[in-house]
Formats: sequence, C-alpha cells, structure tokens
Amino acid sequence: MGKTVSKVREAKLELYRRKGKIHARETAGRFNTLRWAMVWLTQSIFYGACWLTWESDGLRRQAILFDIAHEKLYLFGLVLWPQDALLLAIVLILAATGLFLVTALAGRLFCGFACPQTVYTTIFTWVEARVEGDHLARLRLDQAPKGARKLLLRSTKHGLWFLIAAWTAITFVGYFTPIRELLPALPRWEVGPWEGFWLIFYAAFTYVQAGLAREAVCQHMCPYSRFQGVMFDDTTRNVAYDRQRGEPRNLRRQAGNTGDCIDCGICVQVCPTGIDIRDGLQYQCINCGLCIDACDEVMDKTGAPRGLIRFASERELAGQAQPAGLRQRPRVAAYAALLAIFAALGAWTLNQRSLLLVDVLRDRGALLRETADGRIENAYTLKLMNLAEAPRDFTVEVSGLPGVEIVGEHEFSAAPGSIRPVSLTVSAPGDNSLSGIQPISFRITARQAPATSVVEKSSFALP
Ligand code: SF4
Ligand code: SF4
Repeated sequence: MGKTVSKVREAKLELYRRKGKIHARETAGRFNTLRWAMVWLTQSIFYGACWLTWESDGLRRQAILFDIAHEKLYLFGLVLWPQDALLLAIVLILAATGLFLVTALAGRLFCGFACPQTVYTTIFTWVEARVEGDHLARLRLDQAPKGARKLLLRSTKHGLWFLIAAWTAITFVGYFTPIRELLPALPRWEVGPWEGFWLIFYAAFTYVQAGLAREAVCQHMCPYSRFQGVMFDDTTRNVAYDRQRGEPRNLRRQAGNTGDCIDCGICVQVCPTGIDIRDGLQYQCINCGLCIDACDEVMDKTGAPRGLIRFASERELAGQAQPAGLRQRPRVAAYAALLAIFAALGAWTLNQRSLLLVDVLRDRGALLRETADGRIENAYTLKLMNLAEAPRDFTVEVSGLPGVEIVGEHEFSAAPGSIRPVSLTVSAPGDNSLSGIQPISFRITARQAPATSVVEKSSFALP
C-alpha cells in the first residue's frame, strides 16, 4: 500500500517535472501575499500613472509623457530634453546597479516579485485558474478531447487574456501619445502608423509572453538568469532547501530515522517554473518563494519547524555564520559604493541643470570692424535655447573689457522649447591699451526667472 502511494506521488511529481506546459498549484502564505502586493503596486502605478495630470505655466498636461515627436520627456514638473541624455543614462545606471545590489544580497528577488514577465504571468495564470479551475482541473482539461466545454473555457480564457493584453498595450502607448487623446481615437482607428504598430505589437507581446510562453521566458529567453550567478557570493540569500534537515526524505516521518521532508512534492507542484528546489540552486529558480509558503504549510501540518525551504545562503546552510560587515562582502560593497556615487552624480547633474542653454559663435567672416567714431566692433551669433515650458525674454549683457557694450537690441524673446538664433554686435573703444584677442563674457538672464542665468565665455578681437 505504502509503495503504491509512493508510486502515485512520484508519478504526480514527474507530471510537474515534465518539460511542457506547467500548471502550478496555487498556494497561500507570506511570499504569495508579497507577490500579489507587488502585482497591485506595480500595476496600479503602470495603469494609473498615465492618467495623472500636471499644471505647468498655466497649462495642464499629462504628468508622465515621452513626447517623442517634440523630443521631450515630461516627469511631473520636470521636462527633460535630448540635452539631458546624461541624466537619463545615470538613471539607467542607477537602476542596473540597484538590481545588481539586490541580486548580490538576495538573489533573483527582482525576478520573483517585480519583473514584468513574472507580474503578468501571475495575472494571466490567475485568470486561467478562475476560468478553467485549479491545477488538476487544468491538467485534465489539457488532456480532454475537443468538445463544446473545452472550447467555451478556452475561448473565455483567451478572450480575457486578449482584453488584458489590449489594455496593457493601450496604457503603454498612452505614455508616448497622451492617453486622453489616444483613447477616443481608437474606436475610429485614427491613430498614426507608429501608434498602430506599437498597439498591435505590445498587445501581441504581452499575450504571447505572459499567456503562452510564461516560465519559458525565464528559463530560455531571459539573459539575466544566465549571468546573475556572477553577482552571487556564498553569503547571498537564495531560496534553498535545507538538505541537512530534510534528508533522508520519506513519506512517513514516524516510521523511523528520517529527515523533515516528507517527499510530498507540493513544493514542485507550486513552482511556476516547474523545478524541484531540492535538486539545489538552479538558474530557472526566480526566487518567488512560493515553495517556501507551500513547505511551511506542510511543516505546520507535520509539526516540524518551518523553514525547511527558506531564504538562506550557502554559508548558513553549511552551518557557518554570516559575515558581519561589508568588508567581507566586496561585491556588495562595490555595488553599494557605485549606487551611492551615481546617486550623488545624478543629484548634482539635476541641481546644475539650467532651463537655458546658450551657444556663442563669433563671426569668423569679419574679424573686426572699425567705426567712424574710432570704436571696434565684433559680430556674434548667439543661440538661445529656451528649455522652459513658457516663453521667455532674455537680456544679454557683455563684460570683460573697459567700455565694452552691445550695439542695438539686447533683449530677445524665445518660444517654449525653441532655439532662437540672434545676431549681436559688440563694441569696445579703439583707444584701448589692450590689443589682439581678449576674453569677454556674455551673461544671459531670463527676465521672468532671474535665477535662470548663464555666463558664456568668448573673445573680442582688437587691432
Ligand atoms: S514541500 Fe517540503 S516536505 Fe514537501 S517535498 Fe517539498 S521540501 Fe519536502
Ligand atoms: S523553486 Fe521555489 S522560489 Fe524557485 S521558482 Fe520554484 S517556487 Fe519559486
């Protein structure tokens, strides 16, 4: 009898270990709760943030918008231009370094809880379970012959998946084309070719990746799973099976001197990537912690302490103490230092950022000109780039030589987000004791915002 039960359980395990479609068993517990909390958090931000608006200079606009046509990125009150590419690069470096640090500390925590692939797979499989039933019902449905019930269940599931994928694509494109303009245009398909392309592409991408490919993306397509190992050290905490405590595994602990693992296989059944964590650390493991939840429940039932599967480092599992300081964890220290450096660099770049950029070009055609009253004139072209979202009037002043001044107009207006080229003539007395090329500076100040002021160095040619 015992052998028969064991064979049945082993066959069930094989079903889950089999490479093919994985129907993970649902489980409850702290990591499952955390996973769903992350789904709600990330998706509330993703689906909701494109609807937020922001008022700037009397105009109300979408708060977060990648306006590719006008080469602007709106982030609430901040407007970034192509000139701010360094800032965007720093943000990307910060994100990558933050990911490396988290991975060095706790393995693939991002994969298990925040990666879009995991998040959407969680949503899509939840829908699947509501429509087709639990994991066993879904396995049976897979093997069932074609029929009206199977067709109905499958079409309902795919229909719901399609709706989620479509809304995800609309939201995604809504970060590039204002969503309040995009949505009314959709029923009449009055969208541009790029918007149309991305709507179809992103909907299909979500549908295939989260509905059909699922864990295969983590196992075979994601490059991160392949190189994450280089960030680990022997103190990195990963989801791990405590072999010393669990083995020898047995179905009936009371039968003799066995480990805590009762070989129920539930940890394998709940695993979304279909692996057996008892085989050791595997690149397919996304550190979602669902096997911990499942095993803790089993431990509660058997009366053994929780944590047979838990977040643990190699050192902990070997019975060694975790190192106390960062000095013994050079990788963690390096990632933390890089994170701090780039955060400081980003803050400094943001602080130094001006809403006015100026280019000064000296007229090379005519080096200098002497006027009838004996003054020397040089000609310049100033390119005033107004990065503010409102029109600005700029006052130009010149200094650096005795008696130097601007001839004629020295106030210029520039439209929001525009480059205004202006021609300037600068004059200095000809009886100056100086001669040759002399340094001068232009100060350009926005009248409406005096804090927006730029000093540009140039030169003045004297005989
Ligand atoms: S859930 Fe726990 S007890 Fe059951 S097979 Fe997995 S490790 Fe063993
Ligand atoms: S082994 Fe555990 S932590 Fe890893 S993917 Fe499977 S369920 Fe998640």
